[in-house]
Amino acid sequence: MAEAPRKVQVLVVGSGAGGAVTALELARAGLDVCVLEQGSRWKLDEYGRGSLEAMRHLYRRKGMTPILGRVPLGYVEGMCVGGSTEINSGFWHRTPREVLLRWKAQFDVDGATPDELEAHFEWAEDLLGVSTYAGPLPKSSGVFKRGIEAMGWAAQEVPRAAPACKSTNACAAGCPTGSKQGMSRRILPEAEAAGARLLTDCAVQLLLRQGQRVTGVLAVVRRPDGTRELVRIDAEHVFVCAGPTETPALLRRSRIKRHVGDSLRIHPMLKVAAVFPERIDAQDSVLPLLQVKEFWPDISLGGAFFTPGHLAMGLSDNWLENREQMSRYRNMASYYVAVRGSGRGSVRPSLLGDGAPSLRYELSDEDVIHLSKGLARLSTLLLAAGATQVHPTVQGLPSIRSEVEAVRWLDERLPRSGLSLTTVHAFSSCPLGERHDRCALDSFGKVRGFENLHVNDASMLPDSPGVNPQGSVMALARRNAVHFQESLR
Ligand SMILES: Cc1cc2nc3c(=O)[nH]c(=O)nc-3n(C[C@H](O)[C@H](O)[C@H](O)COP(=O)(O)OP(=O)(O)OC[C@H]3O[C@@H](n4cnc5c(N)ncnc54)[C@H](O)[C@@H]3O)c2cc1C
Repeated sequence: MAEAPRKVQVLVVGSGAGGAVTALELARAGLDVCVLEQGSRWKLDEYGRGSLEAMRHLYRRKGMTPILGRVPLGYVEGMCVGGSTEINSGFWHRTPREVLLRWKAQFDVDGATPDELEAHFEWAEDLLGVSTYAGPLPKSSGVFKRGIEAMGWAAQEVPRAAPACKSTNACAAGCPTGSKQGMSRRILPEAEAAGARLLTDCAVQLLLRQGQRVTGVLAVVRRPDGTRELVRIDAEHVFVCAGPTETPALLRRSRIKRHVGDSLRIHPMLKVAAVFPERIDAQDSVLPLLQVKEFWPDISLGGAFFTPGHLAMGLSDNWLENREQMSRYRNMASYYVAVRGSGRGSVRPSLLGDGAPSLRYELSDEDVIHLSKGLARLSTLLLAAGATQVHPTVQGLPSIRSEVEAVRWLDERLPRSGLSLTTVHAFSSCPLGERHDRCALDSFGKVRGFENLHVNDASMLPDSPGVNPQGSVMALARRNAVHFQESLR
């Protein structure tokens, strides 16, 4: 483990999608860069282990982070070198044109048209080898495709940052073959090769301030023998890339509060398990690779990670009625409805306990309507694909067995009290843009009121992108890093 430096030119807090890109771009420009990462660095042969071990090593709070509200949601994010990119599925989207236009209209974001972002998307796609799946589609994708064709809906196989995917179904436990290009695979090694230092097991507690400048950070370093040391590292510039929940918490702990942590957005997600007459063996292959685009950006339908353990959790909402389905797990696969999320959330640092920030999100009425319609459409699709039963994670709604039962939810609302929702997509807790009345950052990620403090992670997305967010985070982070270097000249 490297020693903490006393002073650096650029400190990057966090090594996920935003932090890794920032470090690479600035190290290549010849700046003295040091990345501080709270989590540990794991070797490839430590990836792909069972869920419990993976959650202990790679996930924040062992994968148990609640988002509170009238409908609580389960949320997870990564805490390791590479952040959430180590445990995500690698699905890749460019920010839709309509979403970028809305960001301009609502937040007055400069420099983020599709043309202006093109080169940054290309840069990331090239480095990560973004591409579609090379082999024949696994069965869980195949049956989904059959349903899409039966419905005649617009859909796509989503490209992924996993160019040589071996279909081990281990995305969520860290890809053990190294095929998925989490930040630990290519971007961070290249940043280190360009001179960036990476200090792991180092949790930044506070930004040190003097007037309109940040002078450095206070951080706790965990040593291999378990002891902890409080260190101070001075810096000329600080990029906070600690992710959508920890970045606003760190800023607020450091008394930087204007429009910080007041506008957390998420993609609320409702899962279903579908039973097919034939063997699917979803537990043995990569998750379903297609997404239905027909209802974008408000509603997207796609495939979820599947193991017998995840299935049991999904069925547990109506366990007594559903438990016998467990024996048919080889004929089952999981799918989801995700909605763009127009409700509002917040992040507040906690002053007690383990320092876990308190996260809140209230589903909007529109969210509930979109989830209901999405469930209707997803269930219809799966039944049209040949599924005999669809089990949603809604308490009191054991299974949907006919298309007529499914379309009911086009016109009726699912009961809020029964919804078991999760999300893995959070953002917008420090929005960027020129609208001073709602944006914490300027259009290029500089914190308003500070000369040398930047945010460059999912927090900066002004609003929900409606598609998997990693591409948007990386393209904007690259754009901001390039803009920063140019401003130094
Ligand atoms: C299970 C899962 C599946 C997903 N699937 C997809 C997908 O298929 N496609 C997609 O586009 N997106 C997906 N996402 C979302 C995507 O991974 C994130 O949007 C993206 O990684 C966010 O980047 P980030 O830099 O904001 O945060 P992260 O990548 O989470 O990185 C933040 C880093 O900061 C570190 N950190 C936090 N606080 C501190 C501190 N105080 N001091 C030092 N370090 C700190 C964390 O440990 C972490 O490593 C998924 C996410 C999850 C969790």
